[in-house]
Amino acid sequence: FASQTPPATTKMAGKKKIAIMTSGGDSPGMNGVVRACVRMAIHLGCEAYCVYEGYEGLVRGGNLIRRMQWLDVRGWLSEGGTLIGTARCMAFFERAGRLAAAKNLIAEGIDALIICGGDGSLTGADRFRAEWPSLIQELEDTGVYTAEQLAPYRHLNIVGLVGSIDNDLSGTDATIGCYSALARVCYAVDLIEATASSHSRAFVVEVMGRHCGWLALMAGVATGADFIFIPEKPREDNWREEMCGIVEHHRKLGKRKTIVIIAEGALDREGNKISPEMVKDLLADKNGLGLDTRITTLGHVQRGGTAVAYDRMLATLQGVEAVKAVLEATPDTPTCVITINENKIVRKGLMEAVQETKMVAKAIECQDFDRAMGLRDTEFSEQYRSFMMTTAVQVNHKMQVAEKDRMKIGFINVGAPAGGMNAAVRAGVAYCLSRGHEPVAIYNGFAGFARHHGDSPLGAVRPFDWLEVDGWASKGGSEIGTNRELPSESGMERIADLIEHYKFDALFLIGGFEAFHAVSQLRKARDQYPSLCIPITLLPATISNNVPGTEYSLGSDTCLNELVEYCDKIKQSASATRRRVFVIETQGGRSGYVATLSGLGVGATAVYTPEEGVSLDMLAADVRHLKSVFAQDQGQSRAGRLILINEKASKVYNARLIAEILREEAHGRFESREGIPGHMQQGGVPSPMDRCRAVRLAIRCIQHLEQFGRNVHNKVKNDPMSATVIGIKGASVVFTPVTKVEEEETDWPNRRPKAEFWLGMKDIGDILGGRPKYHPPE
Ligand code: ATP
Repeated sequence: FASQTPPATTKMAGKKKIAIMTSGGDSPGMNGVVRACVRMAIHLGCEAYCVYEGYEGLVRGGNLIRRMQWLDVRGWLSEGGTLIGTARCMAFFERAGRLAAAKNLIAEGIDALIICGGDGSLTGADRFRAEWPSLIQELEDTGVYTAEQLAPYRHLNIVGLVGSIDNDLSGTDATIGCYSALARVCYAVDLIEATASSHSRAFVVEVMGRHCGWLALMAGVATGADFIFIPEKPREDNWREEMCGIVEHHRKLGKRKTIVIIAEGALDREGNKISPEMVKDLLADKNGLGLDTRITTLGHVQRGGTAVAYDRMLATLQGVEAVKAVLEATPDTPTCVITINENKIVRKGLMEAVQETKMVAKAIECQDFDRAMGLRDTEFSEQYRSFMMTTAVQVNHKMQVAEKDRMKIGFINVGAPAGGMNAAVRAGVAYCLSRGHEPVAIYNGFAGFARHHGDSPLGAVRPFDWLEVDGWASKGGSEIGTNRELPSESGMERIADLIEHYKFDALFLIGGFEAFHAVSQLRKARDQYPSLCIPITLLPATISNNVPGTEYSLGSDTCLNELVEYCDKIKQSASATRRRVFVIETQGGRSGYVATLSGLGVGATAVYTPEEGVSLDMLAADVRHLKSVFAQDQGQSRAGRLILINEKASKVYNARLIAEILREEAHGRFESREGIPGHMQQGGVPSPMDRCRAVRLAIRCIQHLEQFGRNVHNKVKNDPMSATVIGIKGASVVFTPVTKVEEEETDWPNRRPKAEFWLGMKDIGDILGGRPKYHPPE
């Protein structure tokens, strides 16, 4: 920046110019962030830019900072990695590099920067913003720009987004990309399990995570591994005996496979590294377990591939939020990072989050492991406890309750199968066994209970077999069988008699809207049938995600993944013809959740939901829109376009009819086809998120039931908390009495919650899909 050079020119304009960049390690979902930011910025009247190659692009400038148009990011949701590149940039660690970056930004007239990366990238961002006034001053003092030129740039707005596969940033439950990485890890472990079981082998699987054990922990929970090693929580000094004891116990119970998951950064309590080889040697020791043991290091496959539905949703919603945060910021607003807590997108102080993250690494270094665990979010430590409770079954006798408090708990699945139902049963059973309760399976819902009662091996009521249940962690469907019938249809008197006959102290239901309705019926019948005065709780599980009392039901994440994968393939199939619109019919009952969220994940042109309905006028508007889209398309589109319609969005207009209307109206300018994925939407192997949440929520449910204890009929009858639904609501996990849910939260005729938290996402999907806002006629 020699002062003799004449002042550089800047492209000043009235419009806000927002640049987006990705930095640090790539993660699935980063492209979704870029797409959302670019399109939202354009939608809100700003100019969008991308900085290519991370901070390297900022430092070098030139054509590494490029103006982006709407169509430039078409199809990006389905692409893995980051299409605008990323790099580790040494120059940005130096002031001279950051000065060059400031000059380049101002040269393009950019006054706001959105950065998606890990804690290193966000630290760099914060430093840049803190230093900005002095960088500007230096550019003026050295004559690079005049004071007048610099006047609009006295303040730089920065917003951070966390893209990382490790889920290593404090203050957010999930980083963009972590659930995709977890999906790859679990997929690999599921494959390994088959061969492990065939040969009765042990496998030590090493996963990424130098300072963060999230991937190892969640993979352990989702796959039902025997043992895990994570940096934040080294096992006791006797970890060798502990691990071998648990593995030996599982083998004695008949297990043919052993899976140990170890994070890259696993340590013992003295801070010494625990390597996969050390673990392997222990398991294989001829004087000990003598297991045929192999090591699998997953490496970079964990980063690869397209983003799962959840990461696409997170990337899109957080990208939109980042643009809003940029536009709302004033010079006094602290730099923020966009996070998610349970189910809520929130803004937090960027530096606080980064500092807390660094404190975790520091605490691990100082061997202050309680502090390291305390700094992770509550879900992390709860999942750790869940893992311990479900793996060390019957080994840890300290967990057992007194004889008089032991309960007989009936498990029942109601409704259609949903991903995670089996994982929930498995976790509930394991927790019950650890506590000394008696978990009992009621097969095939209330219909099975009423018609096939009998405790013979073929009867509807059977004790669980631990070994069998332990293999259900990653199984789809419902192993204990499920049925839609309500207790009133099966015969309330009969159900009440059977509950009395089997002396159940509590009921644990897992299912969808019918299950909720069943709990409601059982509660209402308590006056008539005293045997129903036992604590009852429901863990919502349905792909439709339409159970009131929660924003999330098990199985809905699996369903979204299936739909997103299906739509990606369908879309790609049109890459030869290009001018094709697919109309895809989704399930979901009278809730447009899966249609809307999968539409968000694949960038649908339009989504039709039961909430909004479909009219001829709306269809006409969409036909006009598609005609203009294809008229303007000069061949940039690499794939077809998608319209999603929920199965109950309209009594008349279904996928086929809409495809035919489009064909007729297109007059040969484009083609259309319908696609009905049908029951594929229930998914094969449930997603890791459904499996992990199943474990956590099922344990919470049994803990809730056990608070009541045994023989408390009178207490139960008058206690609204004795018939509840567990749910994720906003930023917390809560039990809500069914009385409250029935009266205040349920839209009974439409079998869905009255207030659906995701409705706003439909507008975001429409905006980013480029669909003009639809105004119904007066
Ligand atoms: P990952 O989670 O994949 O490690 P990350 O964002 O933490 O992602 P880093 O390599 O730590 O990855 O950082 C990426 C880039 O951010 C660095 O190459 C550097 O350009 C910049 N950066 C990191 N820390 C700083 C810092 N303290 N000051 C200035 N720039 C930094």
